[in-house]
Amino acid sequence: MKFILSLLLFCSLLLNAQNNYPQDYFANPLEGTLVLAGTFAELRSNHFHSGLDIKTKQRIGLKVNASASGFVSRIKIAHYGYGKALYITHPNGYTTVYAHLSKLSPEIEAYIKKKQYEAESYEIELFPTPEELPVTQGELVAYSGNTGSSGGPHLHFEIRNKDEHPINPMLFGIDILDTKAPVVQSLYVYPLDSTSFVNKKNKKQKVRLVPLKNGDFVTEKIDAIGNIGFGIKTIDRQDLAGNSNGVYNIQTVINGLRNFEIDFKEFSFDETKHINALIDYEHFKTKRERIQRLYRQDNQLSLYKSVSNNGILTIKDSTNSVYKIRVSDYKNNSTWITVNIKGTKKTITEPKEKKITPYFIKADQVTNLKQDKITVDFYKDTFYNDFYLDFEVKNDTLLLHDDTVPTQKSFNISFDVSQYNDADKSKLFIARLLGYKDYPAYSTTKRKGDILSTTTKYLGKYALATDSVPPTIKADNFKNKQWLSNFRYLKVKISDDLSGISNYRATINGKFILMEYEYKTNTLTYDFNDGDFTDTNNNLKVIVTDNVGNSSTFEALFYRK
Ligand SMILES: [Zn+2]
Repeated sequence: MKFILSLLLFCSLLLNAQNNYPQDYFANPLEGTLVLAGTFAELRSNHFHSGLDIKTKQRIGLKVNASASGFVSRIKIAHYGYGKALYITHPNGYTTVYAHLSKLSPEIEAYIKKKQYEAESYEIELFPTPEELPVTQGELVAYSGNTGSSGGPHLHFEIRNKDEHPINPMLFGIDILDTKAPVVQSLYVYPLDSTSFVNKKNKKQKVRLVPLKNGDFVTEKIDAIGNIGFGIKTIDRQDLAGNSNGVYNIQTVINGLRNFEIDFKEFSFDETKHINALIDYEHFKTKRERIQRLYRQDNQLSLYKSVSNNGILTIKDSTNSVYKIRVSDYKNNSTWITVNIKGTKKTITEPKEKKITPYFIKADQVTNLKQDKITVDFYKDTFYNDFYLDFEVKNDTLLLHDDTVPTQKSFNISFDVSQYNDADKSKLFIARLLGYKDYPAYSTTKRKGDILSTTTKYLGKYALATDSVPPTIKADNFKNKQWLSNFRYLKVKISDDLSGISNYRATINGKFILMEYEYKTNTLTYDFNDGDFTDTNNNLKVIVTDNVGNSSTFEALFYRK
């Protein structure tokens, strides 16, 4: 037994030490020692994290350098997602990605501004040719920031291969100080069918962890029968920051035989949504904790390695089994958990609380539901598993189960609004009702005649809502009729109460000006260095439109010399 475990450990060590990725090719994109706020493939909302989040001392504006020589192959400027993002393709076929930037280098910034003014749009995606923007290793290419869907200043750094698969940058020798073993926060056991029991119960249970002096754990003894699986809540911390990051590898062993392994080295963007089948999604939705299942449900994540019987344990009567879990970080610091499982038939059948409804969803079939004015269309494989769906229509409100059931595809909801008069119709949108107070959040709504439809990934409550209030626009760092000769920036605050901002357009003296929209601060910013306005009297005009088409116009005069 001990021999097998050491062999297993030895093999993993070997695997970690040898890889086919070029070493010493990619340099750190920031100066100084790298400290992480996030690791590769750590568990995020609807996706695995595709790179490293490198801390920037809570600041924006740190120099970002090209990790290796190559050429700028893509620039994407967006309000959400990666914000301002730069892609550099290298002669060895890999691409490095730098995201949430505050700005690019002066040369690249000039290149983008020209295209933004041509397109009259802040959001833009560009694919420069290899000759246009070549870069050498270590060259300043950008400044770190907090643009897009970023929760605080940091640099998001990725390495992708030719197939656009993100790969753990640590495999290329990007080195992070880490001497601490992963932290195991909790362990759960799941009876996986109606004839399986754990501690006489047919439901998920938390397993008590008993810490050992060396940092490993044993658990209380478990009585079980039938097919069971385990789930773990675990994180890793590196030495130089307290952030809760993802682990690198989890392996399990049953009676000395390899059982299940998940390995966070590489994945594809196509499979990243299947994170919702890896985690206990219902637990996540109700408790906001991510338990990773140590058995495979019906999903094809490439992160699973050497899985036997899908990681499911079949416990027979009068047996004793030893189940071990090993959680490791990239530096091979590991935490072990040992679980003793006694097979025992002395089960007590608890009443099963499986809610039966008239709407049984077969995951591998198309389902169309219709009642009154509301239609729901689920596609084949919208869901991972079959289940009884709650479906109820009350006037303009749709009760569509709840969001604890994960989807692997979006589905469609439509409302027939022919009963409304034309004036009201144009202000309607489909809202997803959130929280206890049923807050109406805009769900991207398409109009086709009298049918409003939305494509969504979430079950839950939906209703028609009305937005008749146009967006608000206010001057932020200036007043009407002010002298702004020494101002570098012109800032305006914009917001919308319900359906949200769809687009904006700003001009000075009738000429388009580029304003950068930061949704996190509701701010539009213009840089006077962009323009060549020579007039003393200037007229600023900003038009903002919300998602149902209500629009507001703001005008102000300012003087410059
Ligand atoms: Zn990131």
